[in-house]
Amino acid sequence: MSEKVENKIIQYQSHTRDNELDIMSSSQCGCICCGEVFSARDVHLWVEEGNVLSARCPRCGLPYVVSDSSGLPLDQKTLSQLSDYLLDNKKESGIYDEICRFCADYYAGKIDNNDIEMIRLYERYIRLLYREFKDPAAAFALGRIYADGSPLTAVDRDKAIAYFEDELLCQDGRSFYEAGLLYLARGERGDNRRAFEAFSKSSALGSLEGSMYIAIFYLHGNYVKADQDFAVNTLLSVFGGLYSRALVERQGYVELIFCAFHIGYCFYEGLGCPQSESRAIRYWLITQYFLDNAVSRMNVKLPWIDEFKNLFSMAMVNKNLANEGPLFDEDTFYDSFFEQQEATTPKLLKYMDYAEDTGSVRFGISSSVPLLIIDAGNFCVTQANDSDWEMTLAKFVRLSDENTFNRFEFIGQYMVRFVLDDPIRGAVAIAELSFEPPVEEEQPKEE
Ligand SMILES: [Zn+2]
Repeated sequence: MSEKVENKIIQYQSHTRDNELDIMSSSQCGCICCGEVFSARDVHLWVEEGNVLSARCPRCGLPYVVSDSSGLPLDQKTLSQLSDYLLDNKKESGIYDEICRFCADYYAGKIDNNDIEMIRLYERYIRLLYREFKDPAAAFALGRIYADGSPLTAVDRDKAIAYFEDELLCQDGRSFYEAGLLYLARGERGDNRRAFEAFSKSSALGSLEGSMYIAIFYLHGNYVKADQDFAVNTLLSVFGGLYSRALVERQGYVELIFCAFHIGYCFYEGLGCPQSESRAIRYWLITQYFLDNAVSRMNVKLPWIDEFKNLFSMAMVNKNLANEGPLFDEDTFYDSFFEQQEATTPKLLKYMDYAEDTGSVRFGISSSVPLLIIDAGNFCVTQANDSDWEMTLAKFVRLSDENTFNRFEFIGQYMVRFVLDDPIRGAVAIAELSFEPPVEEEQPKEE
């Protein structure tokens, strides 16, 4: 019988892909995955693969919809038979892959995660992937569901911790980090020790966040004997990793600002390093910048934020940043431009002069939001409303008549393009700057 069912499935499945037109022109549909029959008008969700659209079932969310325009019978008996077979063979039949895709699309926001039915399906599938397939990503997702809560699942820190510390995740530094945070939030007797242990495992598995929290424990002498030198050095080395991850992968902003805040705090108070108000301010400018431009859009609680705001405003009272001015070297230029990609507001190229004889280029940018200029190489930060740059080693400058742009593009290491993303014309290059690579000075040979 199974061969007969398999043939039938192949026949039905050939109608489940690229079936947008079929469904538009039919009245009834059936799903060979869950066996339900429903009106074609109930189909609202689609799987997109290039130009191909395949209907997701409104009941189970998976793309196994066959419409009556296929000419195939959609009676309850046939659908149940096919459904039983597919669900008994989830891996071989591709159901497993489709469940994974559903969860990934849900997570990426391609499936409405405010729709209670979709939330129900997502949580059901995550549980299924965990139970039937021992999927580590599902264990992590369950930890998240219990840590954050959902309209269907109440927050339960104990359960969340249990999932984050599941055997399946014993090689995952991120999950020990999440468990550590939950111990800190729970704050029961012994939770400091448990948090420290979880962060240690996380750190040993290469997690930057885990190392950062270990440093915080040493900074405050919490559970361990205080060691501020170790704390500051660890925070500084973690900061570099978090900073590049935030720029390249566009994630981890919350951890980045937490780290920057604590480094600033160490400089401000002179803990484990020489006291320096201006270095503190530099790190706090970064904290403030990412807070405004990335973290404020996320719905996260930051228990340290009031302390940060108080310290930052105290430090800024006597400091006139405008006097420090923007920085004028090429490192700064490159690094600061990386920064500005985050902002989507249009910026204006005020002028651009190029003197071929000296190879120097001058230009100004105005922006409705203050530019934060970060020179990661020399570690300097400043904030400016209007920025002027002048630099040498320019090879050529190419300008169009327009001057509004909204992002920068790097062409190799020595060329920068100012680009306007135009809804009609696409990406338009407004200006191009190209630099000579610095000439390495030859060392005189010693005999
Ligand atoms: Zn279905």
